[in-house]
Amino acid sequence: MSSPEIVIDLEKIASNAHVVKALFGSRGINIFAVTKAVGGDPSLANILVNNGLNFLADSRIANIKRVLDAGVRAKFLLLRTLASEVDSVVKYAEISLNSDIAIIRLLSKAAEKENLIHKIILMIEMGDLREGVMPIDLNEVVRKIIRLPNIKLVGIGTNLACFGGIKPNARKMRALSSLAVDLEKRFNISLPIISGGNSANYHWFSKSEILGRINNFRLGESIFLGRETLERIAIPDLHTDAFSLSAEVIETSLKPSLPFGESGLDAFGNKPVFEDIGQIQRAILAIGKLDVQTDQLIPPENMVILGASSDHLIMNTQDKVLKVGDRVSFGLNYGALLSAMCSQTISKKYINANEYRPILQNGGGKRLESQETFSIHQD
Ligand SMILES: *Cc1c(COP(=O)(O)O)cnc(C)c1O
Repeated sequence: MSSPEIVIDLEKIASNAHVVKALFGSRGINIFAVTKAVGGDPSLANILVNNGLNFLADSRIANIKRVLDAGVRAKFLLLRTLASEVDSVVKYAEISLNSDIAIIRLLSKAAEKENLIHKIILMIEMGDLREGVMPIDLNEVVRKIIRLPNIKLVGIGTNLACFGGIKPNARKMRALSSLAVDLEKRFNISLPIISGGNSANYHWFSKSEILGRINNFRLGESIFLGRETLERIAIPDLHTDAFSLSAEVIETSLKPSLPFGESGLDAFGNKPVFEDIGQIQRAILAIGKLDVQTDQLIPPENMVILGASSDHLIMNTQDKVLKVGDRVSFGLNYGALLSAMCSQTISKKYINANEYRPILQNGGGKRLESQETFSIHQD
């Protein structure tokens, strides 16, 4: 094996799925398991479904199609809706997140063509300034949505700690709860899903005695990397090392820490800065920015990643003397996980597949018909 390889421990993911479901489920919070960070990997999707998280979420229709075409018996929430994709959205996604009335209108038309009712969760802007309807515009938007013949508003949600770094704290969650109560009263509707956020909501969840109307989270990083995302602290009982990435050593040598010669720009047009710490034990690995987001790799203890070009990763291995042909394994942060799982040049190896049941063939290509009107009970 010469290429960089990502090793995926399916048993650890299965265990994480069980723990997450029990932890949040014990207090009435359902989970959409978000597969976008693993590029909609069907084997991982299947593990989630077989271990209690059968409602998945992804940002990309192509990922959803790939999972359903593989025969995985999942239902899907689409996290991001494009006007150019509404026909596929209503076909492949059970529910979609939306924040723009123009797109919701197109969804209604697309659903009408298919003779179905498409469910949406309306996203509300609560300060992070990524997606969401401004609270001041909410009533007007909901009034318009309710009039659309082929759309059913099944909930509201918010997404924090993504763009603006705003924390999902008690105040934000209370505000979302009361918006839900207000809307239900004002429009005489029921909103079964109040989706409070993502892996950044763990602190609020674990510290709050009262969860109000919040009964859903959309979780990716927590399930795959075992931690919350405000401070990137491990969540108790979750595996944080279900993924690791290895690459081969192609040169080792004692070299200076300071480049010598007339100094210009590096391969990416930046002016690099170096500290002179004398001679260091260096290793070059056959992996680079072309393969993965290298600054999101976690090196083994006592080794330091000095930098990377497109195909070479430069390391200070300190006391450890490696030799050519050795492989070095790295942990992954979120950016490394998503870039590695979507990489054309990194091979995937699944281990500990005991919990892994073969994918059922259901003909593929079409989403499961939902039972009754709406349920995300995950038993
Ligand atoms: C990516 C995404 C999530 C999942 O975020 P994690 O930090 O991986 O839990 C949840 N909601 C939306 C809208 C997203 O785009």
